[in-house]
Amino acid sequence: MEELKILLSPLEIKGRRLRNRIVMTAMHLNYTPDGRVSDRLVAFYEERARGGAGMIIVGGCIINDLAGPFWLIDIRGEEAVEGHSMLAEAIRRHGAVAVCQLYHAGRYAHSVSIGGKQAVAPSAVPSRFTRETPREMTREEIRQTVRDYADAAARVRRAGYDGVEVLAAAGYLITQFLSPLTNRRTDEYGGSWENRMRFGLEVADAVREAVGPDFLVSFRIAGHDFMEGGNTNREAALFAAELEKHGVDMVNVTGGWHETRVPQLPMSLPRGGLAWLAAGVKRATALPVVACNRINDPLVGDEILRMGMADLVGMARGLIADPYLPQKAAAGHLEQISHCIGCNQGCFDHVLYLKPVTCTVNPRAGRELELPISTAPVSRKVAVVGGGPAGMKAAVTAAGRGHHVTLFEKQPVLGGQLNLAAVPPGREEFWTAVEDLESALEWEGVEVRLETEATAETLLEEGFEAVVLATGGRPVVPPIPGIDLPHVLQAWDVLEGKEDPEGRRVVIIGGGAVGAETALYVASMGTISGDTLQFLLLNGGESVETLKELSTRGVKEVTVVEMLPKVCRDVGMSTRWVLLQDLRNLGIKVVSNAPAKRIDTDGVVVEVEGREEKIPADTVIVAAGTCPVNELHQRLRDSGVEVHLIGDAKQPRKAFEAIQEGLETGLRI
Ligand code: SF4
Repeated sequence: MEELKILLSPLEIKGRRLRNRIVMTAMHLNYTPDGRVSDRLVAFYEERARGGAGMIIVGGCIINDLAGPFWLIDIRGEEAVEGHSMLAEAIRRHGAVAVCQLYHAGRYAHSVSIGGKQAVAPSAVPSRFTRETPREMTREEIRQTVRDYADAAARVRRAGYDGVEVLAAAGYLITQFLSPLTNRRTDEYGGSWENRMRFGLEVADAVREAVGPDFLVSFRIAGHDFMEGGNTNREAALFAAELEKHGVDMVNVTGGWHETRVPQLPMSLPRGGLAWLAAGVKRATALPVVACNRINDPLVGDEILRMGMADLVGMARGLIADPYLPQKAAAGHLEQISHCIGCNQGCFDHVLYLKPVTCTVNPRAGRELELPISTAPVSRKVAVVGGGPAGMKAAVTAAGRGHHVTLFEKQPVLGGQLNLAAVPPGREEFWTAVEDLESALEWEGVEVRLETEATAETLLEEGFEAVVLATGGRPVVPPIPGIDLPHVLQAWDVLEGKEDPEGRRVVIIGGGAVGAETALYVASMGTISGDTLQFLLLNGGESVETLKELSTRGVKEVTVVEMLPKVCRDVGMSTRWVLLQDLRNLGIKVVSNAPAKRIDTDGVVVEVEGREEKIPADTVIVAAGTCPVNELHQRLRDSGVEVHLIGDAKQPRKAFEAIQEGLETGLRI
C-alpha cells in the first residue's frame, strides 16, 4: 500500500534483512513455568513470525541467579541452548529476524522470586516496586555480572538467533546504574554521568566481544525514566550516542521505570504517544532507532516513520492482539486487523497475577496449540442472540468455521456494554474493539439483524440448529430508600447519553469500574479539550498552573461512595493504580466503607463508622453492578435445541471473559 510504503519497506541491520519495519518487542509471557522454552512459547512466536513481523525479540531472559524470577525464560547455562535453538529456528523459518533479550532486574527482583536471596543493585536504595531494599554490588560482583551478560550473549549466538538485545530500560539493573536516584556509589561506577554509564558500556563491550563483530547487538533503553530527579530524554540520547561508539547496532526506545507515576501502557495514552522519546534519541545517533508504546495500527507506525521520528516501530501488544497485522497491512486489508485496545486485561494483568498472557480481543493468543482453528465438520444454521462482545465473537468464530450464522440484536447498534465503556475520557479504544468485530462479522458473512428481538418461537420457527445466548446484563437497582426519586439516574443511562446529570453536585453510588469510569466522565464535563490546551499553551493564553486546573476541573463536583474498603476492586492490577490516579487528578472525592442508607432530595445518606452522614447532591447516579439477562435460556433448553449461554448473560464479568467465551463457543459448535 502506498500509504504504508515506509513501514513495509525492508531494512538491513548488521547484514540481517528485515522484510519490514515492524519489530515485535520482548514481553514477559509466563509460558515457561520452569524457565525452559516450552511448546506453548514456540507456538506463540511461530504464529507471530508467520504473520509477517520483520523482527521478533524474545525475552527477557534471566542471565544469572539474581537476575529475576525463575519462571522467566532462562538463558543461564549450556542446557538452555537447545530450547532456544528450537525457538530461534521456528521464528527464522517464517522469515522473521530472531533476537533474544537479556534481562537483569537488579533491585526490581523480589527476594521470593530469586530463591529468598536479597536483590543486588548499584546502591542499597529501597525499591517502591518490590518494597524491599537491595544490597550494594561489590566491584567483583559487577565484573561477574558483566561476564554473565557476555556468556549469555554467546549462548544466544550458539542457539542460532540473529541477534541479541540487552535490556537497559524500565528501571532494571543498567538503568539503576545510570540514574543518580539509585546509584549513590563513590567508586568508578558512580558519581559523574560518565561513571554511571560505565557499567552499561562495559556490558555492551563484553557482549560485542562474546558474539563477534558480525552479530546484531541491540540495546533496549528508557527514552525517559519519568522519575523526579532521574534521567530524561536528554540522557537517553547521550547514552545512545555512547552505545553507538561501543559497537551497538540498534537502539530500541521505550518509556520509563516501573516506579514512575506516568502511565505508559493504558489506552488513555494516545496512539504513538511516546514516539517523541525515540525522536529525541534519533537526533543523537545514526543507529537505527525503534519507537515503542501504544503503536497498535500500521498507519500510526508508518506516520512515525514518515515523520522521521524513528526507523522501526515496536509492537508487542499489537501483535499479541493480531499476529497477522503485518501480513494484512501488506495485503491492503487494514479493515481485517484486530487492534490492541490497550486494556491490559489479558496481558499485563496476567503478567502481574503470574498467569499466562493472552488477550482480550484475541483470546487465542498463547493458546495456539490448545485452540486450533478448524473448519466445522458439518455446516450448521446457528443463531447468536445478542450483539455485545461475547455474541459478536461467537458469531465471527462460528461463521469463520463454515457455519451459517445469524446475529440478532434488539438495539440499533452492535457492541453492547463496550459502547458504554468507551464513553469516559481516554477510553475510546473500546469503540475500536466494536468496529473491529463489526468488520469481522462482515467479512465472515454473518447476517446481522439489528433492532430485532429474538424469541424462542421465532428461533425455533426458523429452524436454527444451535443457539448462542449472549443477551448480556442489565444494571442492578439496589433496594435503597429513595432510589425512585427523579434526580436518581442509572450510570448506564448517563454513559449512553440518555440522561444528563443536573446541578453541580453529583454523587455516584458504587465504586466499581463502572462507577469510577462514570465519575471520570461526569468530572470531565466542562474541562478544556486537548486541542484547546495546546492552543492556549502555544499562544501563552494562560499560565501552566491555570491550564492544568482548566484541564482537570470542570463544572461538576463528583463524589463516589462505596460500601467496601476500597474502590475499583474489579479493575486489574496494571490499570487500577492509573484509574485511582485519574480520580485524584480530576478532583473526584472517594468515600469508602460507606454504605448508602437512603437517598434524599438533597443528598445521599451514608453510614461512616457507625454514624449517618449526608453528602449533598443535585444528582445521584447509581452504579451498583450488573445482573444477567437470560430469560430465553430455559425455554430454549426445554424445546430441546442446542443452546450455549455465554458472557454476562451467564455471569457478569469483564470484556475479557465475554470475548473469550465467545471464541471458545464459536470453536465448539
Ligand atoms: Fe492489547 Fe488488551 Fe490484548 Fe493486552 S489484552 S494485547 S492491552 S487488547
